[in-house]
Amino acid sequence: MDVIAELSGLVGADAVLTSKPDLEAATEDWRGRYRGPALCLVRPATAEQVAAVVRCCARHGIPLLPQGGNTSLCGGATPWESGPAPVILNLARMRAVRSIDPVNSTMVVEAGCVLATVQEAAAAAGRLYPVSLGAEGSCQIGGTIATNAGGTSVLRYGNTRDNVLGLEVVLADGTIWSGLYGLRKNNTGYDLKHLFIGSEGTLGIITAATLKLHPLPTRHAVAWVGMASPADALTLLTRVQQRCGARLSAFEMINRLQLDLVVEQVPGRRSPIETPADWHVLIELSDNSDGDALDTELQLILEDAFGDGLLTDAALAASDAQRHALWEVRHSVSEANKKAGVGLTTDCAVPLSAVPAFIDAATAAVQALAPDLPAIVVAHLGDGNVHFIPFFTFEEWSAIADREALAAAIRHAVNDEAARLNGTFSAEHGVGRVQLGEMARYKPAAELALMRAVKQALDPQNLFNPGRLLPPG
Ligand code: FAD
Repeated sequence: MDVIAELSGLVGADAVLTSKPDLEAATEDWRGRYRGPALCLVRPATAEQVAAVVRCCARHGIPLLPQGGNTSLCGGATPWESGPAPVILNLARMRAVRSIDPVNSTMVVEAGCVLATVQEAAAAAGRLYPVSLGAEGSCQIGGTIATNAGGTSVLRYGNTRDNVLGLEVVLADGTIWSGLYGLRKNNTGYDLKHLFIGSEGTLGIITAATLKLHPLPTRHAVAWVGMASPADALTLLTRVQQRCGARLSAFEMINRLQLDLVVEQVPGRRSPIETPADWHVLIELSDNSDGDALDTELQLILEDAFGDGLLTDAALAASDAQRHALWEVRHSVSEANKKAGVGLTTDCAVPLSAVPAFIDAATAAVQALAPDLPAIVVAHLGDGNVHFIPFFTFEEWSAIADREALAAAIRHAVNDEAARLNGTFSAEHGVGRVQLGEMARYKPAAELALMRAVKQALDPQNLFNPGRLLPPG
């Protein structure tokens, strides 16, 4: 029996897609930069079906590419161009919220649940699932776990790794490992879930997760602030942290070019403040206080900062609608950049105190290679995570003879500066295919050897997402 017929027998013929139109969206990445062929797209409905598909592919030696919402920004979920075409495994049909325990503050969800649906289900039970990012309307919880996604609330709640208590995973031999613990303490040997969190589909298929929930904040104070420099933004961050402690839930920074692109490219977006500024910061405080205490607190902080010359302008949201409008501007950056041209996205993190030096050094390094090339800056400043994005118009980009070489040189130049400041080249997006060269360049040989040993132990046939995350060698 051929593989397609066998897979159809396992999950149903209508859950095995092979036609070109059906495969189109799944075989190209979100930005339209990478594409590769697939044997078929399989949509299992249960963990048992996933296990059966894995066993079938293992028998035939066919690689498997787990894919969530296909919003990876490092080409991690798109098929490779050469080598055997993979079976793409999408868990969109596995989208049940299996249970919510508001007392234990946990929920068990299937991996295909869209992140926004998880957030809504938690909120309906009076709890918060805090991981939040621009792609939350389409990325799946399984994808966010496989990439250990960060986003805009890491400052207060940590990244995905900090918000997962247990996992259910299908292993390379088809075993279903059910580790859906809902425990805050469990010192019974190796904490295996952490192997799979951030493994980018290379070690197993995540089919469900137990998530850690938090009290749902009922009050939010949000402000948009114009500033002269990243150093001023850091001073303000330190002040807000000192005065508000854990009530500070986001501190996001973008530069002038980024705001201009959002306003130009995304219908309905306006600059939140009138006075032009080189740097813009979105601040959010949240808690469960009564009345206007939180708004008053933020207003006082901003007035003090204004008096000290730290701010050039500020807008404090006066309603939920205004708060959402400020967040919409922040969450529109990727869409704006995709429409406007070609951004060479980097994903560095450096110690917070080194952020201004990193931005200056990265700017100088890129200017040395491509004089006058502008750069977008989008920073989760509270985490020291800076997306420094040298930016070409489509015309400029298509006029370059060797685009791949220039892109690699520019990325190395930026990432070298992060490394010099004890930083990393991948803070939250992962490695995928785009950062394979950087893995080889910056990761200590001993770490790469350990990772290869783990891969060999868990996936000896190299079945799961081969050629991603681990550089050849
Ligand atoms: P996919 O892109 O489909 O897959 C990503 C990786 O996970 C692949 O390697 C894939 O093989 C693997 N995978 C997917 N599902 C499974 C599974 N069930 N089991 C095992 N492996 C699996 N990322 C951030 O960290 N922070 C941000 O702020 C952020 N903002 C973004 C904004 C926009 C507009 C966009 C488009 C992307 C953004 N991203 C961000 C990147 C992306 O959204 C995240 O990496 C997200 O976690 C990917 O989820 P996904 O379901 O789309 O996974």
